[in-house]
Amino acid sequence: MECRDAQFYLRWQRHATDELGAEVTTALRQHLAQCPVCAAESQALLAFDKAIARAMKAVPVPPALRDRIRTHVATQRGARLRVQLYRTAVSVAAAVVLVLLGLSIFSSTRPRVDPQMLAELADDQLHRPDDYIQNWLIAQKLPTELPHQFDWELVTHRGFDDVQGLKVPVIVFTTPDGRDFAKVYIFRKDGRFDMRDLHAGQASRASADVYDTPHAVYVIVYTGGPRGLQRFLTNRPPGGPAT
Ligand SMILES: [Zn+2]
Repeated sequence: MECRDAQFYLRWQRHATDELGAEVTTALRQHLAQCPVCAAESQALLAFDKAIARAMKAVPVPPALRDRIRTHVATQRGARLRVQLYRTAVSVAAAVVLVLLGLSIFSSTRPRVDPQMLAELADDQLHRPDDYIQNWLIAQKLPTELPHQFDWELVTHRGFDDVQGLKVPVIVFTTPDGRDFAKVYIFRKDGRFDMRDLHAGQASRASADVYDTPHAVYVIVYTGGPRGLQRFLTNRPPGGPAT
């Protein structure tokens, strides 16, 4: 800090003791510690102010004036407090509004667990299994025709399977004894999967047939040997599976 600035701040400090700020106060203190001229000036100013304060205290103040001054100071302080309180209240209110807004958006976009709806859905599945599947296929914007005429009474599940990290629509059929099942995977032709040159698959107890149609590729996986799929159909397949 330069002497010129130090002199300015010294005079400023006399009128507004706590308004210089920590940075300026520190710089000023450092300057006064190194500069004898400004330090002397500071001492002189302090001594002068003290003398004035002493002189003023020595002057008798009429009680009425003293009260008026006291009231005035209290009012000023009260007004400043009210402004601070008001500012705090405004920012608290704003924060509360934000939180409430966030909560309402959050709860309105969050679906609520609905056991009743799930029970009714299971009822539909039991009583009208064909509608249960057809409506779901329509909702998924998938063709309502499957590659075979399946026996809807044997449907136990429709939904999505995780296939190589992607969700794929699937319909699951189970034999009445619960020992064998058939899964119909529906792969949309939307470019998510590479579907060039697909072939049927065969594991020790399961087979996978591939049906390539204009809108989707169906992979039907079933257990129970090479003729296992017949048990889930109401009629003979119209055309043989692609090999
Ligand atoms: Zn100086």
